[in-house]
Amino acid sequence: MSTQKSTSKKTIPIVNDPAQPVTRSLYEPHQKIYPRNISGLYKNWRWVMIWITQIVFYGVPWLQWGERQAVLLDIGTHRFYIFGLVLYPQDLIYLVVILIIAALALFLFTAVAGRLWCGFACPQSVYTKIFLWVERQVEGDRAARLRLDASKLTRNKLLKKMLKHSIWISFSVWTGFTFLGYFAPIRDLMQSILQLHLSPWETFWICFYGFATYGNAGFLREQICKHMCPYARFQSAMFDNDTLIVTYDEERGEPRSGRSRKVDAKQSGLGDCIDCNFCVQVCPTGIDIRNGLQYECISCGLCVDACNSIMDKMEYPRGLIRFSTQNALTHHWSQEQVVKKVLRPRVLIYTGLLLLMSAGLVYSLVTRVPFKVDVIRDRGVMSRIVAGGKVENVYQMQITNASEQVETFKISVSGIEGLSLASAKEFTVNAAESRMVAVSLQIADGSIKSGSHPVIFEIVANGSNERLFEKSIFYMSR
Ligand code: SF4
Ligand code: SF4
Repeated sequence: MSTQKSTSKKTIPIVNDPAQPVTRSLYEPHQKIYPRNISGLYKNWRWVMIWITQIVFYGVPWLQWGERQAVLLDIGTHRFYIFGLVLYPQDLIYLVVILIIAALALFLFTAVAGRLWCGFACPQSVYTKIFLWVERQVEGDRAARLRLDASKLTRNKLLKKMLKHSIWISFSVWTGFTFLGYFAPIRDLMQSILQLHLSPWETFWICFYGFATYGNAGFLREQICKHMCPYARFQSAMFDNDTLIVTYDEERGEPRSGRSRKVDAKQSGLGDCIDCNFCVQVCPTGIDIRNGLQYECISCGLCVDACNSIMDKMEYPRGLIRFSTQNALTHHWSQEQVVKKVLRPRVLIYTGLLLLMSAGLVYSLVTRVPFKVDVIRDRGVMSRIVAGGKVENVYQMQITNASEQVETFKISVSGIEGLSLASAKEFTVNAAESRMVAVSLQIADGSIKSGSHPVIFEIVANGSNERLFEKSIFYMSR
């Protein structure tokens, strides 16, 4: 019997096992982005905008207007105080108009300058930038952060992470407290915190908004812009080929390649992009702008700063990545030609609508009568005969004093010959309060036909001499 072993290799066929289907996820797992720090014009402008928006946000609730908080959206009492203006639920139209104006301004701004709002003023970008700054101060720049996250858990790593999260949480709680300060008097809120007397609802809202800040700016970051923000989805409808966007000048940059400063790019047939990837490393959304316009780009301009610094080092002209328009790139337009294209029909329409709405809002606020009156005929008390052979109708009149002084209101009535006011003619209403008063009208029985007759109440504020007219009816029974 032969004991010799066969030396030939055995081939094992690979076949699909239909019982074990391969499942592949359609979702790409999230890769944490470690944006690199950069200096430059747009980075500086981002910080200017951060300071302005944050000084406004954290400062406004502390401003006083006379005896009260200057800006207070007091939901409990249904009053919105905005400096000298007191708005009531009946004034909801002003808030609607303000929202429409804000939307139109966003449309106009987007049509002209693309997503500058996202990169420079949106709270999500602003807080992400602040949180990233804290992260950088505690953990170091990009390379150090990458090393730290890849390293084993040591005492040093734990301390750094704890410090970073403590600062993030403190900042988030302060943000939640400030947010609530727009809806409840912030000084009282501070007292309640110091005396540990916060109500459950106040505690809930501070924690809720603080948690949202911590989660959104600390962890979700660009995920909000990429996957959750509706504006990122519909802004392309406002874009056209003359909208300013962050662009990579492909004609100038390609073919890209690394090279020494001494190499003459023209002679070597190379474009100006040295493929250093700096523009990608600084991008807070982690995209490569050289792949063209992408919806993830928030127009923060950091890649412009990054590339300009590389162009300076290479002694090439700046602007390989720059704010420009698609038409300008295609047709090689100058800056003047780009500026000329700003005033195009779409922009003019948005501007016209915006001016119209703003003028309407200003006009109605300036001419606004600082009180409101609602008159309802008391249907529970139909017309009735009273002493002296007169017929009486009773009305419920709600007078809202929207000013901040106690006001006396004088009531008179017209519309029917011989009709008189049988109740008190003057009422005093406290500042920013409403008062319901009963008003009765009388007329001699038989002096008018039976049925409904229109009447007009005139209400005059003694202090301001402003007046309002309210229509109602007087009912004469058969
Ligand atoms: S920073 Fe400029 S040179 Fe560097 S890869 Fe980006 S586009 Fe090319
Ligand atoms: S591509 Fe440039 S402008 Fe767009 S988000 Fe990234 S860094 Fe900002």
